[in-house]
Amino acid sequence: MFRRVAIIGGGAAGATLLSELLERPVSQPLHLDWYTGGGTPGRGIAYGTRSERHLLNVRAASMGMFASRPNGFLEHMQKRDPRISGTDFLPRCRYGEYLEAETASALARARSNGHDVRVVPYEVDAMVPENDGVTLFQGETTTRVEAAVLALGTLPPRPLSQVDEATLAGGRYVTRPWSLLAEAKPDTQAYHVAVIGLGLTAVDVIVELAALWPNARFTGISRHGLLPEVHQANAALPFEDSEELIEAMRDAPDIRTWMHLLREAIGHTDDWRRVIDCLRPRTQELWQLLPLADRSRFLRHARWAWERSRHRLPQQVAQAIAALEQENRLQRVSAHLHGVTLGERGPQLRILPKGQGKERTLDADLVVQCVGLDNDIRRTQHPLLQQMVTNGHIKPDPFGLGMQATPDGRVLHDGSAWPRLFAIGSMLRGSLWESTAMPEIRQQARQLADHLLSD
Ligand SMILES: Cc1cc2nc3c(=O)[nH]c(=O)nc-3n(C[C@H](O)[C@H](O)[C@H](O)COP(=O)(O)OP(=O)(O)OC[C@H]3O[C@@H](n4cnc5c(N)ncnc54)[C@H](O)[C@@H]3O)c2cc1C
Repeated sequence: MFRRVAIIGGGAAGATLLSELLERPVSQPLHLDWYTGGGTPGRGIAYGTRSERHLLNVRAASMGMFASRPNGFLEHMQKRDPRISGTDFLPRCRYGEYLEAETASALARARSNGHDVRVVPYEVDAMVPENDGVTLFQGETTTRVEAAVLALGTLPPRPLSQVDEATLAGGRYVTRPWSLLAEAKPDTQAYHVAVIGLGLTAVDVIVELAALWPNARFTGISRHGLLPEVHQANAALPFEDSEELIEAMRDAPDIRTWMHLLREAIGHTDDWRRVIDCLRPRTQELWQLLPLADRSRFLRHARWAWERSRHRLPQQVAQAIAALEQENRLQRVSAHLHGVTLGERGPQLRILPKGQGKERTLDADLVVQCVGLDNDIRRTQHPLLQQMVTNGHIKPDPFGLGMQATPDGRVLHDGSAWPRLFAIGSMLRGSLWESTAMPEIRQQARQLADHLLSD
C-alpha cells in the first residue's frame, strides 16, 4: 500500500481518483497531494463551461463519477428535479457542479477520517520517477512521494502549421476555444467567424457565439464538411447479435475484416448506432488485440468516421445547428486548408474546396481552430511532459496517442513499467484507445485506487 500519493491534474479524472482513494477504509491515514494546475478543482476543460447551451454527449444515467454508482449523477440531478430522465443530455455545467460537490464531500470526509490532503492549485513543473518513489518539482518546492499518478487530460492545442506567425501574433486566430468562450461577451457586430474543424468543439463554439453575437455568421471548414452524427432521442436497444460480432472480431483482429464485419452487422439492424454502441464496453480489449500495422491503418483510414459516429451530438444541439444553416448564418465547406495569413482586414484563409481545382480565399474577423483533442506528447510544449520525454522518464506512443503504458495504467520506460508511476485518462489512448470519457475514466480510477491501496 502506498500511503503518500501525488495526483497530478485537477480535472474530472484527478477528482475521481482522489474521491475513490478517500472512499476506501484503510488502516492508516493517507497523505495525498493533489496538484490541480489552477482552475476549479474537478471541472477541467470539459465541465468548466458555464454555458447551459453546452450539453453532455453522454446520457445522464451513464455519467456517475464512481464506477460503483454509475447512476450517481442522475440521482444527484433528480433530487433537484424529479422529471429529469436517465436518457437526457444535460448541461455540462450541471455536471461540473456535481463533480465539485462530490469532491468537496470527499475532502470533508478525509478531514474527519484523519487523512492529510493537500490541494495545490499549481502545475507540477518536473518529475523524476525512480524505483522506490517519485520526486516532484513545483516552483521552489521539491516533494518526494511513494507513488504518483498523471491525470493530465489532453494537451494544450498547437496552432496548425499552415498559419503564419503574423496571424498568430495578431490575436484574431484562436487556438484555445475554451478560453475564448469563457471570455466572450454579447456583441451585435456582424462578425464573420471561420471555424476550422467541424467536430464537437466546433459545434460548441458555433452554438455559443451565435447566441452571444446575433449578427455574426460562421463558415465551418473541414475535409469532409460533415458534422458529428446525431443521437436518437431515446437510447437505442442493445444490438442482439453483439456477442457473435465481438467473438468474430476477436477471432480476426485485422482492420479490413473488422470493417467488413461491422458493415454486415449494420446491414442487419434498423439503426447503425446499436452496433457502434455495443462495441463500447469491449473497445479497449479489441484495440489491444489489433497489431500495430492495423492500428496505423485504422488511424489513417477509419479514425475520422469512427470519431464522428462514436461521439455524437444530442438532438437539441443538432437542431440549433440546423436552424443556423437555415438562416444562412452557418455555411459548411468541405475543403483543404492551404494557409492562413494576415490580410489588411484581418485573417485570410486560403482553401481548396473539394472537387474544385482552384484555391479560394476567405476573409474572416476571427478564426477559431477546433481540430480535435491532441494527445501527441512527441510534439507538445506542455512543460512537464516535455521534461519527462526529454529525460527518458516516459516514452511517447508511436501513433501520438499519449504515453506508452500497460492497459492498467503503469507508465513504461525502456520497455518496463515504473513500479510507482501511473497514468489515467487520455494519456492512455495508445494502449486503450477508448480512454477519454467518464465511463472509462471512473473504471480506471477504481482499479488504480484498488492497486495503490492494496497490501
Ligand atoms: C468539450 C468537451 C466535452 C466533453 N464532453 C464529455 C461528455 O459529455 N461525457 C464524457 O464522458 N466525456 C466528455 N468529454 C471527455 C472528457 O475529456 C472527460 O470526460 C474528462 O473531462 C477528462 O478529464 P481529465 O481530468 O482527464 O482531463 P482535463 O479535464 O483536461 O483535466 C486535466 C487537468 O490537468 C491539469 N494539468 C495539466 N498539466 C498539469 C501539471 N503539470 N500539473 C498539474 N496539473 C496539470 C489541468 O489544469 C487540468 O485541470 C468531453 C471533453 C471535452 C473537451
